[in-house]
Amino acid sequence: EAKAVQGSSFRFFDAALAADMQARADVERDLARAVAAGEFFLEYQPIVGVESRSVRAFEALIRWRHPVKGVINPEVFIPAAEKTGLILPLGDWVMREACREAARWPAPAGVAVNVVGDQFKDCAFVDHVKACLAETGLAPGRLTIEVKESVLSADRAAIRETLGKLRAHGVRVALDDFGVGFSSIDNLRAFPIDQLKIDRSFARAMMENKREAEIVDIILKLGQTFQVTTTVEGIESEGQLDFIRQRGASEAQGYLISGPVAAADVIALLARPEIRLSA
Ligand code: C2E
Ligand code: MG
Ligand code: MG
Ligand code: MG
Repeated sequence: EAKAVQGSSFRFFDAALAADMQARADVERDLARAVAAGEFFLEYQPIVGVESRSVRAFEALIRWRHPVKGVINPEVFIPAAEKTGLILPLGDWVMREACREAARWPAPAGVAVNVVGDQFKDCAFVDHVKACLAETGLAPGRLTIEVKESVLSADRAAIRETLGKLRAHGVRVALDDFGVGFSSIDNLRAFPIDQLKIDRSFARAMMENKREAEIVDIILKLGQTFQVTTTVEGIESEGQLDFIRQRGASEAQGYLISGPVAAADVIALLARPEIRLSA
């Protein structure tokens, strides 16, 4: 009796695992097709000055317009793109497309582009970024590269060199989702960083929990010590915005100001009276 149950649960496990592997293989094949077919588009979310509430930059966020499944969010397909190496052609496309759009925006509005470790390790990356800037005419100072802190854990010398080259060219560098995962003060010492983006989980937690609020305080002080821009992600309420203003954060990003918008709506968003472009 017990043996039969165990046997069937093993069969169930095998079947579930096989189905899972099949699903993953399907996603990967589908993704390769989609990259070739160009089924991706970017949305842009404003990042505003906490004091002025005026737009400093827009973060480019990728979406996949799937012919059958509809619009798919990056958290679903970026891991598969990394695993298959498709992140390289996809990431090149994002960089060129984001620079092309941003070059049409009134200066000094900048654009922030998310980049993963595999792109970074490719020595062609810096050349590609320079080519995108040159082709589109976007001033390098208007481009920010966002990397998650976990990227900095391996190949530190090579990554420092890549970041150094980008910065020497005038491109800004932001640490994304700061405060979760592999946070280390040493990263701020060891790498040339312009901006800390404090993970959106803190925006909620800091309002509910004194200890989390103190951690946000510490991160903001850390940012001031290293003289970097501090941006809090996931700001959804006036209360949260007040909270970070009182604690000296430089920038805010979140649904309170605006969710991500279509490329065609960026200029209109800049014209909204409560959202202005920084002088
Ligand atoms: P991220 O870089 O931290 O981007 C911010 C994410 O937070 C976006 O999710 C954005 O829509 C969401 N968000 C913005 N404001 C709020 C808010 O007030 N509340 C909440 N709950 N969420 C907010 P999205 O667009 O789904 O992107 C998810 C992640 O996918 C990004 O996180 C980024 O890590 C990655 N990603 C997006 N585009 C790209 C890309 O072009 N390349 C790479 N490598 N990764 C990308
Ligand atoms: Mg980001
Ligand atoms: Mg983030
Ligand atoms: Mg994130």
